[in-house]
Amino acid sequence: MTDSAVDPRAKTPFPPYTLSLPPGDPIALVADSPHSGTRYPEDFGHVLAFEALRAGEDTHVHELWQSLPGVGATLLAAEFPRSYIDPNRDIEDIDPEMLSQPWPGELKPSEKTRLGIGLIWRHSGQNGRKPIYDRLLTPAEVQARIDTYHKPYHAAMREQIEAAYARFGGVWHLNLHSMPANSYEGLQIESDHPLADFVLGDRDGTTCSPEFIDVVAGSLRRQGYSVAINDPFKGVALIARLGRPAENRHSLQVEIHRGLYLDEMTRERSAGFDDLQRKLAIVSRDIADYVKEQHP
Ligand SMILES: [Zn+2]
Repeated sequence: MTDSAVDPRAKTPFPPYTLSLPPGDPIALVADSPHSGTRYPEDFGHVLAFEALRAGEDTHVHELWQSLPGVGATLLAAEFPRSYIDPNRDIEDIDPEMLSQPWPGELKPSEKTRLGIGLIWRHSGQNGRKPIYDRLLTPAEVQARIDTYHKPYHAAMREQIEAAYARFGGVWHLNLHSMPANSYEGLQIESDHPLADFVLGDRDGTTCSPEFIDVVAGSLRRQGYSVAINDPFKGVALIARLGRPAENRHSLQVEIHRGLYLDEMTRERSAGFDDLQRKLAIVSRDIADYVKEQHP
């Protein structure tokens, strides 16, 4: 996979994602990185400084996990930024106060919208969030973001998941993210302990088998990392939609502490990047070994 270039004014539309297929035999493992996109559509119309807007990115996450196709997994990575439209939100998760006219359908704003980070983000920033817009958005422009980026991303996910399921009778999905050092603050959660190196989320035990979490957590801990489960990130729309363990469809969110690999002010890789990438290659192999044992 190539490094995706940062483009502050990308001519829209462009292909919403990059799909990396396994060069060898595929296994029932599908991964996606919905928030590492760095091509900012030229019709974004934000007033917030570009550097502050980028605070929402899970920058470089698809590169940290670039070993996945080599172990037989499919890796889907968004090209568009989540601050433009967030593929990890349902399309009804919109703040009506951000729109210039009523939405022509039902809206179901969630807790994420209350925090200003629903389908369309209200604010972003490294140290305290600031408004992204000085204007209201038209329902037509939001609909265009959904049709051009959000829907095709989900369609690609669905296609890969269903192909694996049809072939193997089961599918294991990793939803890959990274989290800022001040995550508890951002979520308005009081915590008496520091943020873990990795946070695995299964929406409180509902989106994958406990065994799958044990495999991923065990492998990460063997590499020396601290691992928390559902604290504070439980997983949002993507794993809620894909994870149905009773049907042998397992979906797990994996959050990496950005302090392990990123300078959060410049978005540049830090000295820890290579070591983390190497260790995640070992973790990828461990996960693939487990998934292959589940094949018929
Ligand atoms: Zn993310």
